[in-house]
Amino acid sequence: MVVELICVGTELLLGNIVNTNAAYLSEQCAALGLSCYFQSVVGDQAERMTSVLDCAAKRSDIVIMCGGLGPTEDDLTKEVAAKYCGKELQVDERSMERIAEYFTRRDLKPTENNWKQAMLPEGAVIFDNNNGTAPGMAIETDNVKVILLPGPPNELIPMFEESVVPYLKKLTPGIILSQTVKLCGVSESRVETELKDLIDNQTNPTIATYAKTGEVHIRVTAKADTKKDANKLIKPVVKDIKNRYGQDVYTTDEAVTLEKAVVDLLIANELTVTCAESCTGGLLSARLINVPGVSDAYKAGFVTYSNKAKRKLLGVKKTTLQKHGAVSKQTAEEMVKGIALETKADVAVAVTGIAGPDGGTKEKPVGLVYIACDVKGNTTVKEFHFSGNRMIIREATVSAALRLMRSCMLEYFSKVTFGEKK
Ligand code: ATP
Ligand code: MG
Repeated sequence: MVVELICVGTELLLGNIVNTNAAYLSEQCAALGLSCYFQSVVGDQAERMTSVLDCAAKRSDIVIMCGGLGPTEDDLTKEVAAKYCGKELQVDERSMERIAEYFTRRDLKPTENNWKQAMLPEGAVIFDNNNGTAPGMAIETDNVKVILLPGPPNELIPMFEESVVPYLKKLTPGIILSQTVKLCGVSESRVETELKDLIDNQTNPTIATYAKTGEVHIRVTAKADTKKDANKLIKPVVKDIKNRYGQDVYTTDEAVTLEKAVVDLLIANELTVTCAESCTGGLLSARLINVPGVSDAYKAGFVTYSNKAKRKLLGVKKTTLQKHGAVSKQTAEEMVKGIALETKADVAVAVTGIAGPDGGTKEKPVGLVYIACDVKGNTTVKEFHFSGNRMIIREATVSAALRLMRSCMLEYFSKVTFGEKK
């Protein structure tokens, strides 16, 4: 089954709003095992909408159009799609009642044009809108199914999950199951090259890679008659990937984030954690504290932005700052030792870097970051070079800090197991 997306709205063409619906719908369709080869954006203009719909309907089995289902003059999607599919618009009594109810419940009066939303193409499958007035629908012809969804994401997303997913599942017999293998510390291009043999030779399951900041996710998707059969197809591929990447795989559970994997590792080993942050200004602590249950591990953290704070709160030496600067291996090391001593945490992390846009020099450019991690007195300091704007550099730093924490803990555990360190 091939699906195609058409997002309708002049605002989208002008860049006034970001096309988050396209990202959402593509991801959902991929998870359902539908192939999507084309997406378009078209303004609120009937002729151009018809032309793009005609093109899509000829090359795809399902066309999803979003936006332009509202009550105003410029909302034309339903009229265009119905006309294209050769269906008349008729009053749908149930939608009339639902619209009336929507307004009564909110103590509002509908305007005349609201009733336009109860005019639906004959024979259409209707998707209820529990968060607005415009119902969604599927107009079916012999060649194509045209699905229309409202533009506002708070209406589109619940409608898609409640009604469109079951509708699409009925069109594609069998079930689709995915499992995601999440890696950290390897680049997407490396993963793609290394998995080329797997990716090229598989059609069921399919393998797709997605890059996230400092991470690569590999989604293995199988289609089968039953869940058990789909699992049987997925399992050996996931096992193969895990064998290839060993410790770089931090989870095979969709719900587990990198910070959760780090927190789980801390809690499972009864370790406490602390952070001393300069350029990330609390972002690292915030990501850790986002994980429910972190209170068993996280006790305290410092944002030590100024040199004075680094000296006073963490005991970084004045001479170190003068000789090597605040952004240096030596400062990162003294920061991490200082906070470990101050908080008595088992695992300590310290971050210092130049997030820009100013403050860079030839020797120390914007994006230079030092991250130190100390696990029970074993200190590692790493130098990183990130690019991008201030926020991107800060987020990349947080991701690198989480990866360093994880690898330092794993290294420590392996040594403890072999009796090298206590
Ligand atoms: P309404 O009844 O609100 O007019 P509609 O179905 O006619 O809904 P549009 O008029 O096209 O939809 O868009 C309404 C609002 O929905 C936009 O102003 C925007 O905030 C949001 N929206 C529309 N399309 C998208 C999209 N592709 N991605 C993200 N948001 C969108
Ligand atoms: Mg509208």
